[in-house]
Amino acid sequence: MKIKKIALFTVLIWILLVSLSFVWNYSAATKEQERVAFESAKTLFEYINITRLWNTQHAAVYVPITSQTAPNPYILNPNRDLKINEQLTLTQVNPAYMIQQIADIALKQSKVHFHFTSLNPINPANQPTQREAALLKEFQAGLSEKGLFITEKGEQYYFYMAPIYLDESCFKCHQRQDLLHNNIGGGISITSSYIMKVPIIALLFGHLLIGFVGIIVLFIVYQKLTTAYAIIQQQATIDELTGIPNRRVFSERVVTEFKRHQRDKQPLSVIMCDIDHFKLFNDTYGHQAGDQCLRQIAQLVQNTLHRPVDFCARYGGEEFIILLPETDLQGAKHFAEIIRQEVEYLHIPNENALPYQIVTISLGVATTTEMHAIASYEKLINLADTALYNAKKQGRNRVQTT
Ligand code: GH3
Ligand code: MG
Ligand code: MG
Repeated sequence: MKIKKIALFTVLIWILLVSLSFVWNYSAATKEQERVAFESAKTLFEYINITRLWNTQHAAVYVPITSQTAPNPYILNPNRDLKINEQLTLTQVNPAYMIQQIADIALKQSKVHFHFTSLNPINPANQPTQREAALLKEFQAGLSEKGLFITEKGEQYYFYMAPIYLDESCFKCHQRQDLLHNNIGGGISITSSYIMKVPIIALLFGHLLIGFVGIIVLFIVYQKLTTAYAIIQQQATIDELTGIPNRRVFSERVVTEFKRHQRDKQPLSVIMCDIDHFKLFNDTYGHQAGDQCLRQIAQLVQNTLHRPVDFCARYGGEEFIILLPETDLQGAKHFAEIIRQEVEYLHIPNENALPYQIVTISLGVATTTEMHAIASYEKLINLADTALYNAKKQGRNRVQTT
């Protein structure tokens, strides 16, 4: 029972450990995915920012006016457009305009969306979204960057945003604006399609397998342990030769029964049995035949007991002891007589044992009752032993009381 509880507890602990491992691995895989998404977005941001810085370094660059690059109406520089000749007019492209153009290419090429924005943009097209505006305020308060998974129209994206710091060269153009604190001119957000690829099936299957194999191993260990425990238990309580309980079990049982007798005031009887002339039997037929005879008589004594409370044990070499709770002297004597007769009926030859020349048994009976209470169970056993001694003295093959 105790082993069963320990085994169940161990299985529960095992299931808990495997579940914890699954949760830990899942969370580690998720975090790793987030880290990869964050680092990728940050790298893109850094590229775009370096490109912006290049443009800033040149205080805006000139490119030919084409159908894709119209002059920027938000650049107030009187030298915004430079006519080189009849075919070629150059126009100034500032960082915001350049990023807008790169963003258009990126969106077409790789579905990555850049947005160069500020809380107070010159170009209304660079107005921040709600999320961007909230983050721009957080950058003002000291936040250095932000990355998070978002879902839009059922699609999963990774969103990253970091602030853009303006230096002296920028203030020529930006002096009309209310810049954010810490020279933050605005920010660039990057939104890219990103599907979390946590290997949930592999993780789940792996952990289920580990859990299952562990439970099978525990089950095998449990089986082996219970078998070993049963063998040890049997070896500790059952007499190896005769197969009936040993003296150690009797010693425990007699204490319990004696206490019960004292509490319930019910009689308790003890019968001490000893095979007659057993030495002669061994001498005549050999030790192995003696063992066989002992087994036969032990089984006979045990089979004579019918009530679950009755108990017998091998007490010594060829001695057996019987405990009969709630049995008075009369009943115990009757019971002892039945055993004596049964042994006689076996007719096991013991040709040198006179006068019967068969295996017989002597029995001593002692009883403690409410009226004639015996003080201790040791005394009760001694009385049964004395009665047995008297039975031997009076010629053997008989039942004797004190
Ligand atoms: P009594 O009628 O006075 O009891 O005589 P006894 O010969 O039975 O008594 P004694 O005490 O002289 O001898 C007991 C014998 O029981 C001695 C021993 O060889 C034998 N014996 C004890 N245990 C075993 C056993 O496990 N197997 C066998 N074969 N014999 C045993
Ligand atoms: Mg003896
Ligand atoms: Mg004997």
